[in-house]
Order: sequence, then structure tokens, then C-alpha cells
Amino acid sequence: MEVCLDKIEISAESRAVKECDRPDEKIVAEIRAWIKASGSPHTFRLHTHTKPPKGTPVIYIEEFTLPKQYRVRNKRAPCPCCTDVWPQYWHLGKIAYFPLERVLRLVGPDCYAALDAEGHQIALNTMREERKRRQDIAAILNNPHLIPQLTARLIEWLPIITAFDNGRKGMRERLDMLRLPLWSRIRDGQLHVSRAREIVFKKPDGTDATRTVHDMQVYGPVAGYAFFAPDAKPYTPRLKRLQTSLSQVPTFRPENIPNLSDQERRYIAKTINQATTTMRDILNDITDLRRIFEQVSISTINGWSRDPGADFPIHFAVDNTSLYIGRTADNRLRIPVAPEFWQRLRSIPQMAETSMAAE
Ligand SMILES: [Zn+2]
Repeated sequence: MEVCLDKIEISAESRAVKECDRPDEKIVAEIRAWIKASGSPHTFRLHTHTKPPKGTPVIYIEEFTLPKQYRVRNKRAPCPCCTDVWPQYWHLGKIAYFPLERVLRLVGPDCYAALDAEGHQIALNTMREERKRRQDIAAILNNPHLIPQLTARLIEWLPIITAFDNGRKGMRERLDMLRLPLWSRIRDGQLHVSRAREIVFKKPDGTDATRTVHDMQVYGPVAGYAFFAPDAKPYTPRLKRLQTSLSQVPTFRPENIPNLSDQERRYIAKTINQATTTMRDILNDITDLRRIFEQVSISTINGWSRDPGADFPIHFAVDNTSLYIGRTADNRLRIPVAPEFWQRLRSIPQMAETSMAAE
């Protein structure tokens, strides 16, 4: 159904060319507040409602979205690039500055692309980079405590993770020693058994005969199976590298933030992000790998081993001091583990949420 749009009355004041400087953060905040209150970008005091000259350079400062009640077709904002007096857009409008004319226009999301596709793309990329930079800085400003907290957590984790790495390495060595091809049976996360089945077929002379075929069936999933992965890298060196990079971050206090160079801010933000991401990955990995010590995993491996369809015997057990692996319970190897092996890894200190996303 065709929607009948109401023409918007554009005032002379709105049409008038209002030269201004490139909007700073204060102006951006004023624009956001105006749009939030009025839903009407084209009546903002610095907006110039004229069509920009084709190909003139443009800078996108930020994006904005109209409040909910202005999202219906007839309540949307008019765009000076294209629709002029007709309601057109509501989301991801651009706060666009045109440095040659020295004017500000609030325009539709991709409207300027029709006048200059490449200029639009460049402005979009630059805006996103700028935004990322501001987010990084905001993250630092909000989290000066994070580096000492992450460092403290790393130090707490190190003996636990080192014990884990050692236990895992010990297990691999014993499996090699015993020539137990466990990994080749468990590498897809499930153990399989073969089941014999008789099938009837016709011989060339037309008589019936039977033959046995073996089907592989899933015996059961084993959580944490990657604990046995032969090519697994230890986590300790990664943690130590992280510790070094955190220790190289110049100490910063909130009151010094304004004096940090852009490069220092970026470096600090990057280090914090990397540390948080790496620690989260390691924590997730180890939490998952430790599921191999849950009773259900142990029972699945040992139960599989007793199944006539399994292809070799194996015995796997754990207690407070050791892991055990062998072909049978009577003939098993012991892998001693440090008490830290079983210790809980406490969670990662969190960065306070900062939201700089376009509103
Ligand atoms: Zn437009």
C-alpha cells in the first residue's frame, strides 16, 4: 500500500547557510539532546538545509537515530541531500561536516553516497576509527585499576596453570610410552565402537549366503577430550608473555590521562584488551578441558574400554594427587600433579562497561 507522506515545512532559518566550526563533542552532545527531545534533526540550530555540492569533501562526526515515536514513515526526518521536504530516514543519520562550505548538515544514513560514493566510504571509515579511538580512551579512563587487577589475577593463576600444563604433558608422555592411540579414537569428541551385523546376500549361483559387516557406532561423547591432544601448546608461556606486556605499561593515574599521548593511550587500551581476551580464552579452555576429570567422562572412557566393540583396553583414573593411565587398573602409570592442579581459576577482573555507540 502506498503511504501518503506529508510534506515538511522547512523554515527559512533552516535553509539559511550557517557557517560554523567542525562540531566538537559538546556540539555532538547538543545535537543528540535536540534529536532526543524533538525528533527533528533539520531544526537543529546549526543545521543547514541545503543540498551539498556534488563531490565536496565530507567528514562524518557521528551517527544518530531518532527516538522510537519518529520511526513511522510519516514522522521521519527530511534529508537535505535527497528528499529535502519529505520524511525519509530515522536510523544511522550522519552528523556531517562540510569543511569547504564550513557547514553542518544532519543527513540520512547513506545519502551523501549518491553525490560521492568514495568520499562517503572514506568518511565512514574515518568516523569508525575515530569512534574506536574514543572508546579505547574511555575504556582507559574508566578502568585505571584494571592493569594492577589483571596482573594480580595472572600471578594467582600462574601456579595453577603451570600445574595443569605439567599434568597434561605428563599424560601425553605416558600415553606415548604405553603406545595407547587414545587420541585417534577420541579426537572428534566421541568414542566409537564397532558392531557386527549379519547381512544376507545372493551368491552368483543364486543361493543365499550371509556375511558379517562391522559398523562404527557412537559409544558416547567425552567432555574435555582435548585434554589428550598431542599437539596442545602449554598455556604458561602465553601467560608469562602477558605478564611482561602488562608490566611494561607505564603506570597511569586518572589525573594523568589528559597528558598521555595518543600513542600511549592506544598502547594501554590495546594491552588491556589483549590481556582480557587472552585470559578469557585460557579460562574458557581450561574450564572445558577440566571436564575430562568429571566422573561421567572417566566412566565413559573406562566403560568404552570394556565394550567388546572397543579396539583396545584403557584405564583412566584420578585422585587428589595424581592422574593414572594404563591398559588396566592393575598395570597403570601414575602422573603426579601439584595440589594447584585442582585449584579453581578465579574469574577475570572486568572492564566497566562504556557505551559510546551511536544513539
Ligand atoms: Zn538523503
